[in-house]
Amino acid sequence: MLETHDEALRAIPSVESALKHLNSCALGGEHPRSMLTRSVQRVLAGARVSIQSGKHAYGSTFEDVRQSIMEEVEREVAALALRALVPVLNVTGVILHTNLGRSPLAAAALEAIAETAGGYSNLEFDLVRGKRGKRDLLVLDALCVLTGAEDALVVNNNAAGVLLAINTLALGREVIVSRGELIEIGGSFRLPEVLERGGATMVEVGTTNRTSLADFEGALNRRTGVLLSAHWSNYSIEGFVARVEIRDLARLGERYGIPVIHDLGSGALVDVDVLDMPGEMTVGQSIAAGAHVVTFSGDKMLGGPQAGIVVGRAETIARMRKNPLMRALRPGKQILAALQATLALYLDGVQSTRIPVLSMVGISLEELQARTEKVAVRLQERIGEAAVVRVREVVARVGGGAVPGSEIPSVGLELTSLSCSAGAFSAKLRAGSPPLIGRTIGETVLLDLRTVFPEHDSVLIDVVAEAVTNDA
Ligand SMILES: *Cc1c(COP(=O)(O)O)cnc(C)c1O
Repeated sequence: MLETHDEALRAIPSVESALKHLNSCALGGEHPRSMLTRSVQRVLAGARVSIQSGKHAYGSTFEDVRQSIMEEVEREVAALALRALVPVLNVTGVILHTNLGRSPLAAAALEAIAETAGGYSNLEFDLVRGKRGKRDLLVLDALCVLTGAEDALVVNNNAAGVLLAINTLALGREVIVSRGELIEIGGSFRLPEVLERGGATMVEVGTTNRTSLADFEGALNRRTGVLLSAHWSNYSIEGFVARVEIRDLARLGERYGIPVIHDLGSGALVDVDVLDMPGEMTVGQSIAAGAHVVTFSGDKMLGGPQAGIVVGRAETIARMRKNPLMRALRPGKQILAALQATLALYLDGVQSTRIPVLSMVGISLEELQARTEKVAVRLQERIGEAAVVRVREVVARVGGGAVPGSEIPSVGLELTSLSCSAGAFSAKLRAGSPPLIGRTIGETVLLDLRTVFPEHDSVLIDVVAEAVTNDA
């Protein structure tokens, strides 16, 4: 029995012997030794801390402690493969899944990245004049054409777009915003904090559920720099509600010479008529309503790469472009290549079939039903009695902080394993190759094919069959 900390600490194996142990149980063969060493060190350091804090030492034997540490090392190394960035099958039915990379790119966008980023490009070179040129000119023209704005710029994400707009237009000044729009988006984007880091002072007006134009007007003073409106993104308020329309806010801004920033979030370029989007505006509609600056993401409803897009009045955008922060926030050539190719699909009018996000939203219920039933039959044939496969109605979502509350009627596969719990079944699916991410509901796992590319249906069947067979 181990009686003291020091005795217990001696039970911690050396890095060398832990690596030998991994070799002896044939784990870790696929990882470079340097990566294995780092994982082992992490586990051993954790064990040291836990022993020093009085956990798992007293009363157990030297062998117990050593064995439990070795098991921890094994688990850590087994998890290494699952930590790499790899493709997964998204069967959650959430189209813009924030945890799963938001919008998948169109084939044309992927080709554009491969073509321009694999070699040199005219990123900052003017081919007509033969000298240094500006970045992203064609992208900016396309954005202006598609939104009706006078000018545009591109940064790394919408959070950067909002930060740049605030920092340029309201540094050391006040930003008036409705209390009902002080949003937090997952991943710690909180509007009040972004305003503060942007160098502005936030002035909240109205109440959580109701804000009027008079509230904004009443807060105006010499220090006012910006009137801000932010999209609700990931929540909705129903009942006794009043919001200030962008059109009215823009008129107020015009009257007092104060710019209006509209953080539109998702930023659909076109009306997605299959979605019931009450109150949703396209970027073009916001510009037409008079917003000076509209900011939105490239990888939400637009369906392109992660980017922040800022469109608006020429003079305002020009000021933003001159902000020294611009250099820190600008995107790389891969992003510009993908964005340019994605926008070209809109210009050609083929977006609804060629941009994955839009085609996934647009799949008809009948088409999805037929496809899901086919997959169900093939799957049941493969797995026999090991699990029950049922086709049922489900609800898909846009997700990703876009079109809150939107529900898309969908069809899913309901799988019930006869030999393990739904949680354990889900874990096996996540360990598949590729990992499959579904929804666990009660004792079943739900798979919505709306978010799966049809050419991946066979792979999906393989992954499920593999997980079920491993069950036995
Ligand atoms: C999503 C969203 C953001 C953040 O956009 P990112 O591209 O994720 O940085 C900011 N504001 C609103 C209203 C959003 O919906």
